[in-house]
Amino acid sequence: MDTKIIRLEDYLRTEILSDADRDKLKIAAKILRDGGLVAFPTETVYGLGGNALLPEASERIYAAKGRPSDNPLIVHIADITELEPLTAEIPEAARRMAERYWPGPLTMVFKKSPLVPARTTGGLDTVAVRFPVHPVAMELIRMAGVPVAAPSANRSGRPSTTTAAHCIEDLTGRVDAIVDGGSADIGVESTILDVSGDVPQLLRPGAVTREMIEETLQISVPEDAALKGPLGADVRPKAPGMKYRHYAPKAPMQLVMARRDPADAAPEILRFLREAADRGQKPALLCSVECLEELKRLDSFCEKDIIIRLTGSRSDQTVMAHDLFECLREMDETDAAYIVAEGCSEQQLGYAVMNRLKKAAAWQILYV
Ligand code: AMP
Ligand code: MG
Repeated sequence: MDTKIIRLEDYLRTEILSDADRDKLKIAAKILRDGGLVAFPTETVYGLGGNALLPEASERIYAAKGRPSDNPLIVHIADITELEPLTAEIPEAARRMAERYWPGPLTMVFKKSPLVPARTTGGLDTVAVRFPVHPVAMELIRMAGVPVAAPSANRSGRPSTTTAAHCIEDLTGRVDAIVDGGSADIGVESTILDVSGDVPQLLRPGAVTREMIEETLQISVPEDAALKGPLGADVRPKAPGMKYRHYAPKAPMQLVMARRDPADAAPEILRFLREAADRGQKPALLCSVECLEELKRLDSFCEKDIIIRLTGSRSDQTVMAHDLFECLREMDETDAAYIVAEGCSEQQLGYAVMNRLKKAAAWQILYV
């Protein structure tokens, strides 16, 4: 299959869609309507879109990603009026969250209506819906005139894509078009809040933080077991994606997490780096600028023997989130054989970043 690259030249320069950009998006919208696949930018990560109401389109998404077919897709809408036909009921909590955070990086799981094919929901009787705020995503979905099923636009198991270049890397020859609209702002996938049961439950942390949800709903929000640790093979979690190996760079990764003083992590990080080198494994390090400074103050830290990728400052979670998947992808382009990563604070957006890091590290975490 030929993959058309649609570069939104004016939007890339000005962040405003011009008429010329819109004409290009019309081509992508027609592909979607006709059952084809289009990767496009959203404010979280790039999505791999297909017509959510056509089972064949969903099937093609699973095939393009190499995704297990019991892992459901998120359905994207471009207007709040599109929600009702997709769902069996809209609970009051969902209305309040939608009022405050839609359009935006929040996905909610509802009891589904018969309109949504089982192929789109991985056979579940619920449907995940999101109303993205990115101008390109909004315009494309609106032009397509149908709800758009769009999981992250990466090959299954790889880190999510946050630029068109990542999509080209993963999906060339597997999708009909890739829309280049620059880099995704937030960098981690949407928050998933399940509102299909009696009590809203957090299935995946994202930029709409647990603190924000609890403040809006004035209740404490429980979280899915999959957020707390690895799941046994026999468990069928609420968010089926949780059970699969995810985001993982090719090299094994060790996460080091300081419980009190962030500076406590450095000596342990150094120990893991040295042990890897002693085993003959080329070590790589993913850490904040502050952590690197702390490491440099330790005896026997030898910068030149280590592949280093900095994740910005500890004090700026937005940079960390924005660069996270790019960092993990970059690791795969090096000859790193063992990666040591510094954990970050789990407050606010940091909780979403840590959730991805824990999965990338396959739950190899040392708390100090
Ligand atoms: P992705 O868009 O690639 O980040 O993946 C979508 C994620 O949303 C998957 O990991 C699913 O687990 C979750 N999801 C989608 N639909 C549902 C649903 N009906 N119930 C629970 N989780 C869902
Ligand atoms: Mg994904």
